[in-house]
Amino acid sequence: MSYTEEVYARVVEKNPGEPEFHQAVKEVLESLKKVIDANEAEYRKMAVLERLTEPERIISFRVPWVDDAGQVQVNKGYRVQFNSAIGPYKGGLRFHPSVNQGVLKFLGFEQIFKNSLTGLPIGGGKGGSDFDPKGKSDGEVMRFCQSFMTELNKHIGADQDVPAGDIGVGAREIGFLYGQYKRITGLYEGVLTGKGLTFGGSLIRTQATGYGLIYLLDEMLKHHKNTIEGKTVLVSGSGNVAIYATEKVQQLGGKVVAMSDSNGYIHDPDGIKLDIVKNIKEVRRGRIKEYADKVPGATYTEGKGIWSIPCDIALPCATQNELNLDDIKKLKANNCFCVAEGANMPTTLEATDFILENGILFLPGKAANAGGVATSALEMSQNSLRLSWTEEEVDQRLQQIMKDIFAKCEDAARRYGMEGNYVAGANIAGFEKVINAMLAQGIV
Ligand code: NDP
Repeated sequence: MSYTEEVYARVVEKNPGEPEFHQAVKEVLESLKKVIDANEAEYRKMAVLERLTEPERIISFRVPWVDDAGQVQVNKGYRVQFNSAIGPYKGGLRFHPSVNQGVLKFLGFEQIFKNSLTGLPIGGGKGGSDFDPKGKSDGEVMRFCQSFMTELNKHIGADQDVPAGDIGVGAREIGFLYGQYKRITGLYEGVLTGKGLTFGGSLIRTQATGYGLIYLLDEMLKHHKNTIEGKTVLVSGSGNVAIYATEKVQQLGGKVVAMSDSNGYIHDPDGIKLDIVKNIKEVRRGRIKEYADKVPGATYTEGKGIWSIPCDIALPCATQNELNLDDIKKLKANNCFCVAEGANMPTTLEATDFILENGILFLPGKAANAGGVATSALEMSQNSLRLSWTEEEVDQRLQQIMKDIFAKCEDAARRYGMEGNYVAGANIAGFEKVINAMLAQGIV
């Protein structure tokens, strides 16, 4: 057995019942094989992969809160502090009923490489709760966030661990979490990112993940002598990433014809009217279905099925494993030539293999959605400087970071004879920086 196979087998054995974590480790280790084989003796002796796949620390805690009816509710809370070799832990908080330790370990593991790719000094972490903000009143969400932070505050800090938003955690939740952190610790510091603009937030942070995805896509398409202009695009999800990816596609002359939520998808052959989606999702917290009631010519279909609509480019921006082998076969049959992941690991391993074997252009989430965490790191810089940069300044930095990420992925893939394979490129480039730092810091 090779070293990577041995470590993968160990991860499966030691982390039972965590299929998403196994999947993330498998994808990374497979694409690192050539790098590991070239340094096998040293890496084995230093147990580099065993250390890389074991979180430095996992904190798990009880989150009791009182609902509007006076009933006490209890949720599980977590923070996975995975790797701090290149900076303080950084990664979002996810509030969704599907959250468990395995899901957060997969996300935290991915975050290590993503954060490394940004070129900024941030380590990998992730956290969250199985709390479902959907259908809860503002008061219930606030009480939950306050209880969550009453425990979490003991483990985070501006130079230690800086959480942000993710699924179910947007501006409202970050505001409540920040308020409670400040109240308990007495510190007005950049301990969370995604904050409101009046209390230390950064311009462009809201748009950053979606915009960054499209900046990277644009860069890759240019490299392949193509453009977004005139292309038909599918975007799954209708949350933060999906909305701002759609906005930037439209600004660059592409046409987004479908979006979705966890209930179903809308198809608008004339192009999605984003102001209507924003009103439904950002203002009223409604369902995507309502779009079809408001826009003549648009249809709503219950269930998963967005990938059966003909398109040139598919952008999965909802959640993990939302695009499987059947989906990619349908996309290919409809001449889709490019998939770029806005979400974390939305494409299954089988679908990714099919993509790479069939010459479909592919950008993996850890590179493609890194604009969010990169701009979070820019928020940390502004907080430390006690300054706020202009919209143009932050946007320019974001564009440059995404360009650099493409160059790193391209270069790493080429160096190992896998030109055009940006999965391998992203994993290798992210890995190299972290491993150099880990080796230099001794056995910790
Ligand atoms: P939001 O909560 O804003 O939106 C999530 C969207 O995905 C919603 O439309 C939601 O539908 C849908 N969705 C969530 N879970 C499921 C599911 N199980 N099945 C089908 N649809 C689902 O989250 P974000 O936009 O912030 O995050 C989306 C993805 O992007 C996640 O993978 C996240 O980890 C990743 N990401 C986000 C970053 C950010 O800055 N926000 C940064 C990097 C990555 P519904 O409303 O019905 O639940």
